[in-house]
Amino acid sequence: MGDAARSAFAVEIRERYLAIARDRWPVSVDPLPDELLSSWLHRLALANGIAPRSFAGALGFDERMWSPRLDLCLPLNLARLLCRQTDLSPGAISAMTMNGGALTALLLPLRDNVHRNRSTWMQYCPQCLAADEAPYFRRQWRLASRVSCFTHGCGLRDRCAACRASIATFDQGELLPQHICARCGFDLRAAPKASVKAAARRLERAIADICRVESAMGSTKTSDAVSRVLRAPAAADARSRRTLKNLSTAERIRCFEALAAKPLDWLVNNMDATGAYRRWMIVAAGGHEAMIARFADFLEQHQTRSKPRRFCQPDADLSGLLTAYTRMMIRYTSSTHIIA
Ligand SMILES: [Zn+2]
Ligand SMILES: [Zn+2]
Repeated sequence: MGDAARSAFAVEIRERYLAIARDRWPVSVDPLPDELLSSWLHRLALANGIAPRSFAGALGFDERMWSPRLDLCLPLNLARLLCRQTDLSPGAISAMTMNGGALTALLLPLRDNVHRNRSTWMQYCPQCLAADEAPYFRRQWRLASRVSCFTHGCGLRDRCAACRASIATFDQGELLPQHICARCGFDLRAAPKASVKAAARRLERAIADICRVESAMGSTKTSDAVSRVLRAPAAADARSRRTLKNLSTAERIRCFEALAAKPLDWLVNNMDATGAYRRWMIVAAGGHEAMIARFADFLEQHQTRSKPRRFCQPDADLSGLLTAYTRMMIRYTSSTHIIA
Protein backbone atom coordinates (compact mmCIF):
# COMPACT_ATOMS: atom_id res chain seq x y z
CA MET A 1 0.00 0.00 0.00
CA GLY A 2 1.37 3.38 -0.96
CA ASP A 3 1.80 6.53 1.10
CA ALA A 4 -1.36 8.06 -0.36
CA ALA A 5 -3.48 5.13 0.82
CA ARG A 6 -1.85 5.18 4.25
CA SER A 7 -2.50 8.90 4.69
CA ALA A 8 -6.21 8.30 3.95
CA PHE A 9 -6.53 7.12 7.57
CA ALA A 10 -5.32 10.08 9.56
CA VAL A 11 -7.35 9.79 12.78
CA GLU A 12 -6.87 7.07 15.36
CA ILE A 13 -8.42 6.78 18.80
CA ARG A 14 -5.81 5.26 21.08
CA GLU A 15 -6.73 6.17 24.66
CA ARG A 16 -9.68 5.36 26.91
CA TYR A 17 -11.70 3.96 24.03
CA LEU A 18 -14.11 2.04 26.22
CA ALA A 19 -14.73 5.19 28.27
CA ILE A 20 -15.45 7.23 25.13
CA ALA A 21 -17.72 4.64 23.50
CA ARG A 22 -19.30 3.48 26.72
CA ASP A 23 -22.61 1.97 25.67
CA ARG A 24 -22.18 0.73 22.13
CA TRP A 25 -19.39 0.98 19.61
CA PRO A 26 -20.29 3.34 16.76
CA VAL A 27 -19.87 0.83 13.94
CA SER A 28 -21.14 -2.76 14.05
CA VAL A 29 -19.55 -5.42 11.84
CA ASP A 30 -21.38 -8.62 10.90
CA PRO A 31 -19.35 -11.85 10.96
CA LEU A 32 -18.69 -13.31 7.50
CA PRO A 33 -19.07 -17.03 6.61
CA ASP A 34 -16.67 -19.18 8.67
CA GLU A 35 -14.92 -16.05 9.98
CA LEU A 36 -12.49 -16.48 12.85
CA LEU A 37 -13.13 -14.39 15.97
CA SER A 38 -9.74 -12.64 15.77
CA SER A 39 -10.40 -11.67 12.14
CA TRP A 40 -13.77 -10.19 13.12
CA LEU A 41 -12.19 -8.33 16.06
CA HIS A 42 -9.59 -6.77 13.77
CA ARG A 43 -12.26 -5.68 11.30
CA LEU A 44 -14.42 -4.37 14.14
CA ALA A 45 -11.51 -2.33 15.49
CA LEU A 46 -10.63 -0.85 12.08
CA ALA A 47 -14.28 -0.03 11.31
CA ASN A 48 -14.37 1.95 14.55
CA GLY A 49 -11.18 3.84 13.73
CA ILE A 50 -8.74 2.03 16.00
CA ALA A 51 -5.78 -0.15 15.04
CA PRO A 52 -5.79 -3.78 16.29
CA ARG A 53 -2.78 -3.23 18.59
CA SER A 54 -4.50 -0.25 20.22
CA PHE A 55 -7.79 -2.15 20.42
CA ALA A 56 -5.99 -4.79 22.50
CA GLY A 57 -5.04 -2.06 24.98
CA ALA A 58 -8.60 -0.75 25.03
CA LEU A 59 -9.84 -4.24 25.91
CA GLY A 60 -7.21 -4.60 28.62
CA PHE A 61 -4.79 -6.94 26.83
CA ASP A 62 -1.09 -6.31 26.57
CA GLU A 63 0.18 -9.79 25.71
CA ARG A 64 1.36 -10.82 22.27
CA MET A 65 -1.02 -12.67 19.96
CA TRP A 66 -3.90 -11.36 22.05
CA SER A 67 -6.63 -12.03 19.49
CA PRO A 68 -5.47 -15.54 18.39
CA ARG A 69 -5.53 -16.46 22.09
CA LEU A 70 -9.14 -15.29 22.27
CA ASP A 71 -10.01 -17.63 19.37
CA LEU A 72 -9.05 -20.50 21.67
CA CYS A 73 -10.41 -19.18 24.96
CA LEU A 74 -12.81 -16.24 25.12
CA PRO A 75 -13.37 -15.11 28.74
CA LEU A 76 -17.03 -14.85 29.68
CA ASN A 77 -16.79 -11.19 30.71
CA LEU A 78 -15.28 -10.27 27.32
CA ALA A 79 -17.92 -12.30 25.46
CA ARG A 80 -20.61 -10.36 27.35
CA LEU A 81 -18.89 -7.05 26.58
CA LEU A 82 -18.70 -7.89 22.84
CA CYS A 83 -22.39 -8.85 22.79
CA ARG A 84 -23.36 -5.65 24.59
CA GLN A 85 -21.21 -3.35 22.47
CA THR A 86 -22.09 -4.86 19.08
CA ASP A 87 -25.61 -6.30 19.52
CA LEU A 88 -24.38 -9.69 18.30
CA SER A 89 -25.90 -12.72 20.03
CA PRO A 90 -23.75 -14.90 22.34
CA GLY A 91 -24.20 -17.73 19.82
CA ALA A 92 -22.85 -15.62 16.96
CA ILE A 93 -19.80 -14.68 19.02
CA SER A 94 -19.03 -18.20 20.24
CA ALA A 95 -19.52 -19.63 16.71
CA MET A 96 -16.39 -17.72 15.64
CA THR A 97 -14.16 -19.29 18.31
CA MET A 98 -12.16 -22.51 17.95
CA ASN A 99 -12.43 -23.87 21.49
CA GLY A 100 -14.06 -27.19 22.26
CA GLY A 101 -14.76 -29.02 19.00
CA ALA A 102 -13.56 -32.42 17.90
CA LEU A 103 -10.89 -30.94 15.64
CA THR A 104 -9.12 -28.86 18.32
CA ALA A 105 -6.13 -31.22 18.22
CA LEU A 106 -5.56 -30.26 14.57
CA LEU A 107 -5.21 -26.53 15.26
CA LEU A 108 -1.90 -25.03 14.22
CA PRO A 109 0.04 -23.96 17.33
CA LEU A 110 0.24 -20.28 18.25
CA ARG A 111 3.72 -18.94 17.61
CA ASP A 112 4.91 -15.72 16.11
CA ASN A 113 8.64 -16.54 15.94
CA VAL A 114 8.82 -18.05 12.49
CA HIS A 115 11.58 -20.48 11.61
CA ARG A 116 11.98 -21.89 8.18
CA ASN A 117 10.02 -25.14 7.72
CA ARG A 118 8.01 -24.58 10.91
CA SER A 119 4.29 -24.02 10.95
CA THR A 120 2.78 -20.64 11.64
CA TRP A 121 -0.51 -20.09 13.42
CA MET A 122 -2.50 -18.97 10.36
CA GLN A 123 -2.86 -19.80 6.66
CA TYR A 124 -4.63 -17.92 3.89
CA CYS A 125 -5.72 -18.20 0.26
CA PRO A 126 -4.63 -15.10 -1.69
CA GLN A 127 -7.49 -15.57 -4.15
CA CYS A 128 -10.12 -15.77 -1.40
CA LEU A 129 -8.74 -12.55 0.11
CA ALA A 130 -8.81 -10.95 -3.35
CA ALA A 131 -12.42 -12.01 -3.90
CA ASP A 132 -13.62 -10.79 -0.49
CA GLU A 133 -15.36 -7.45 -0.33
CA ALA A 134 -13.88 -7.20 3.16
CA PRO A 135 -10.87 -9.56 3.29
CA TYR A 136 -11.06 -11.87 6.31
CA PHE A 137 -9.52 -15.03 7.75
CA ARG A 138 -11.43 -18.31 7.86
CA ARG A 139 -11.67 -20.75 10.77
CA GLN A 140 -10.75 -23.67 8.49
CA TRP A 141 -7.41 -22.02 7.69
CA ARG A 142 -6.33 -22.67 11.30
CA LEU A 143 -6.35 -26.46 10.76
CA ALA A 144 -3.12 -28.35 10.04
CA SER A 145 -5.14 -30.79 7.94
CA ARG A 146 -5.93 -28.05 5.42
CA VAL A 147 -3.34 -27.29 2.73
CA SER A 148 -5.41 -26.02 -0.19
CA CYS A 149 -8.44 -23.88 -0.97
CA PHE A 150 -11.50 -25.95 -1.90
CA THR A 151 -12.88 -22.98 -3.85
CA HIS A 152 -9.84 -22.02 -5.92
CA GLY A 153 -7.87 -25.29 -5.95
CA CYS A 154 -4.61 -23.54 -5.08
CA GLY A 155 -2.30 -24.15 -2.13
CA LEU A 156 -2.72 -22.13 1.05
CA ARG A 157 0.10 -19.88 2.24
CA ASP A 158 1.29 -19.36 5.80
CA ARG A 159 3.75 -16.50 5.34
CA CYS A 160 4.01 -13.10 3.74
CA ALA A 161 5.43 -13.64 0.26
CA ALA A 162 7.63 -10.53 0.63
CA CYS A 163 9.15 -10.63 4.14
CA ARG A 164 8.38 -14.30 5.04
CA ALA A 165 6.83 -13.22 8.36
CA SER A 166 3.71 -14.95 9.68
CA ILE A 167 0.34 -13.21 9.81
CA ALA A 168 0.45 -10.61 12.59
CA THR A 169 -2.66 -8.47 12.21
CA PHE A 170 -3.03 -8.55 16.01
CA ASP A 171 0.14 -6.40 16.11
CA GLN A 172 -0.92 -3.96 13.37
CA GLY A 173 -0.37 -0.45 14.70
CA GLU A 174 -1.84 1.41 11.75
CA LEU A 175 -5.32 1.69 10.32
CA LEU A 176 -4.73 -0.81 7.53
CA PRO A 177 -6.95 -3.73 6.49
CA GLN A 178 -5.79 -7.20 7.44
CA HIS A 179 -4.73 -8.34 3.97
CA ILE A 180 -1.81 -5.92 4.37
CA CYS A 181 1.22 -7.56 6.04
CA ALA A 182 1.66 -5.95 9.47
CA ARG A 183 5.45 -6.37 9.18
CA CYS A 184 6.24 -4.99 5.71
CA GLY A 185 3.04 -3.64 4.12
CA PHE A 186 2.87 -6.28 1.34
CA ASP A 187 -0.60 -6.93 -0.05
CA LEU A 188 -1.21 -10.64 0.69
CA ARG A 189 -3.70 -10.82 -2.19
CA ALA A 190 -0.75 -10.46 -4.58
CA ALA A 191 1.10 -13.56 -3.30
CA PRO A 192 2.04 -15.99 -6.11
CA LYS A 193 -0.22 -18.99 -6.59
CA ALA A 194 0.94 -22.17 -4.84
CA SER A 195 0.14 -25.41 -6.65
CA VAL A 196 -1.06 -28.69 -5.11
CA LYS A 197 -1.42 -31.90 -7.13
CA ALA A 198 -5.02 -32.96 -7.77
CA ALA A 199 -4.55 -36.31 -6.02
CA ALA A 200 -3.36 -34.53 -2.86
CA ARG A 201 -6.35 -32.19 -2.94
CA ARG A 202 -8.71 -35.17 -3.26
CA LEU A 203 -7.05 -36.83 -0.27
CA GLU A 204 -7.21 -33.60 1.73
CA ARG A 205 -10.94 -33.23 1.08
CA ALA A 206 -11.57 -36.88 1.98
CA ILE A 207 -9.63 -36.50 5.24
CA ALA A 208 -11.60 -33.35 6.11
CA ASP A 209 -14.84 -35.26 5.45
CA ILE A 210 -13.77 -38.30 7.45
CA CYS A 211 -12.94 -36.11 10.47
CA ARG A 212 -16.21 -34.14 10.05
CA VAL A 213 -18.47 -37.18 9.50
CA GLU A 214 -16.98 -39.22 12.33
CA SER A 215 -17.20 -36.24 14.66
CA ALA A 216 -20.87 -35.69 13.71
CA MET A 217 -21.55 -39.36 14.47
CA GLY A 218 -20.19 -38.80 17.98
CA SER A 219 -17.88 -41.71 17.36
CA THR A 220 -14.70 -42.40 19.27
CA LYS A 221 -13.17 -42.82 15.82
CA THR A 222 -12.83 -39.02 15.69
CA SER A 223 -9.84 -39.01 17.96
CA ASP A 224 -8.48 -42.03 16.11
CA ALA A 225 -8.79 -40.30 12.73
CA VAL A 226 -7.29 -37.07 14.09
CA SER A 227 -4.35 -38.85 15.72
CA ARG A 228 -3.64 -40.76 12.48
CA VAL A 229 -3.74 -37.48 10.53
CA LEU A 230 -1.36 -35.88 13.03
CA ARG A 231 1.08 -38.77 12.49
CA ALA A 232 0.74 -38.51 8.71
CA PRO A 233 4.31 -37.17 8.16
CA ALA A 234 5.73 -40.48 9.41
CA ALA A 235 3.37 -42.36 7.07
CA ALA A 236 4.60 -40.22 4.16
CA ASP A 237 8.26 -40.52 5.14
CA ALA A 238 9.34 -43.03 7.79
CA ARG A 239 12.29 -40.77 8.72
CA SER A 240 9.98 -37.96 9.84
CA ARG A 241 9.60 -37.46 13.58
CA ARG A 242 7.39 -34.36 13.49
CA THR A 243 3.61 -34.14 13.71
CA LEU A 244 1.58 -32.58 10.94
CA LYS A 245 0.85 -29.36 12.80
CA ASN A 246 4.53 -28.56 13.26
CA LEU A 247 5.20 -28.53 9.52
CA SER A 248 4.99 -25.42 7.35
CA THR A 249 2.17 -25.37 4.80
CA ALA A 250 4.66 -26.03 1.97
CA GLU A 251 5.91 -29.14 3.81
CA ARG A 252 2.38 -30.34 4.49
CA ILE A 253 1.53 -29.97 0.81
CA ARG A 254 4.50 -32.23 -0.01
CA CYS A 255 3.37 -34.63 2.73
CA PHE A 256 -0.16 -34.90 1.26
CA GLU A 257 1.25 -35.37 -2.24
CA ALA A 258 3.44 -38.22 -0.97
CA LEU A 259 0.52 -39.82 0.91
CA ALA A 260 -1.71 -39.63 -2.17
CA ALA A 261 0.77 -41.87 -3.97
CA LYS A 262 0.82 -44.47 -1.19
CA PRO A 263 -1.63 -47.19 -0.06
CA LEU A 264 -4.18 -46.08 2.49
CA ASP A 265 -2.96 -48.41 5.26
CA TRP A 266 -1.89 -45.52 7.48
CA LEU A 267 -5.54 -44.37 7.75
CA VAL A 268 -7.33 -47.72 8.05
CA ASN A 269 -5.05 -50.46 9.42
CA ASN A 270 -6.00 -52.18 12.69
CA MET A 271 -9.58 -50.91 12.42
CA ASP A 272 -12.86 -52.80 12.45
CA ALA A 273 -13.97 -53.67 8.91
CA THR A 274 -16.98 -51.35 8.82
CA GLY A 275 -15.04 -48.25 9.89
CA ALA A 276 -12.16 -49.08 7.55
CA TYR A 277 -14.53 -49.58 4.59
CA ARG A 278 -16.24 -46.27 5.30
CA ARG A 279 -12.93 -44.34 5.36
CA TRP A 280 -11.65 -46.25 2.38
CA MET A 281 -14.77 -45.49 0.32
CA ILE A 282 -14.72 -41.77 1.20
CA VAL A 283 -11.09 -41.54 0.07
CA ALA A 284 -11.75 -43.60 -3.07
CA ALA A 285 -14.67 -41.35 -4.04
CA GLY A 286 -12.71 -38.16 -3.26
CA GLY A 287 -15.02 -37.02 -0.47
CA HIS A 288 -18.17 -37.90 1.43
CA GLU A 289 -20.59 -36.13 -0.94
CA ALA A 290 -19.00 -37.80 -3.94
CA MET A 291 -19.31 -41.17 -2.20
CA ILE A 292 -23.01 -40.61 -1.47
CA ALA A 293 -23.57 -39.53 -5.10
CA ARG A 294 -21.87 -42.67 -6.45
CA PHE A 295 -23.81 -44.80 -4.00
CA ALA A 296 -27.08 -43.18 -5.16
CA ASP A 297 -26.09 -43.78 -8.80
CA PHE A 298 -25.37 -47.40 -8.00
CA LEU A 299 -28.76 -47.85 -6.31
CA GLU A 300 -30.56 -46.22 -9.21
CA GLN A 301 -28.83 -48.42 -11.78
CA HIS A 302 -29.44 -51.51 -9.66
CA GLN A 303 -33.17 -50.77 -9.39
CA THR A 304 -33.48 -49.73 -13.03
CA ARG A 305 -32.02 -53.01 -14.17
CA SER A 306 -34.24 -55.13 -11.93
CA LYS A 307 -37.57 -53.22 -12.18
CA PRO A 308 -37.30 -50.67 -14.96
CA ARG A 309 -40.94 -49.70 -15.51
CA ARG A 310 -42.23 -48.58 -12.11
CA PHE A 311 -41.03 -46.98 -8.89
CA CYS A 312 -40.28 -49.38 -6.08
CA GLN A 313 -38.65 -49.36 -2.65
CA PRO A 314 -35.12 -50.84 -2.48
CA ASP A 315 -35.49 -54.58 -2.11
CA ALA A 316 -31.84 -55.46 -1.51
CA ASP A 317 -30.58 -55.67 2.05
CA LEU A 318 -28.14 -52.93 3.10
CA SER A 319 -25.19 -55.19 3.85
CA GLY A 320 -25.50 -56.73 0.40
CA LEU A 321 -25.57 -53.32 -1.19
CA LEU A 322 -22.55 -52.14 0.80
CA THR A 323 -20.64 -55.22 -0.24
CA ALA A 324 -21.61 -54.69 -3.86
CA TYR A 325 -20.71 -51.02 -3.59
CA THR A 326 -17.34 -51.88 -2.09
CA ARG A 327 -16.64 -54.26 -4.98
CA MET A 328 -17.58 -51.50 -7.39
CA MET A 329 -15.26 -49.02 -5.64
CA ILE A 330 -12.41 -51.53 -5.70
CA ARG A 331 -12.85 -51.89 -9.47
CA TYR A 332 -13.14 -48.10 -9.81
CA THR A 333 -10.01 -47.47 -7.77
CA SER A 334 -7.91 -50.10 -9.47
CA SER A 335 -8.94 -48.74 -12.85
CA THR A 336 -8.21 -45.08 -12.02
CA HIS A 337 -5.24 -45.53 -9.62
CA ILE A 338 -6.70 -43.12 -7.08
CA ILE A 339 -4.94 -44.58 -4.09
CA ALA A 340 -2.07 -46.72 -5.28
ZN1 LIG B 1 -9.51 -19.49 -2.12
ZN1 LIG C 1 5.52 -8.92 4.96
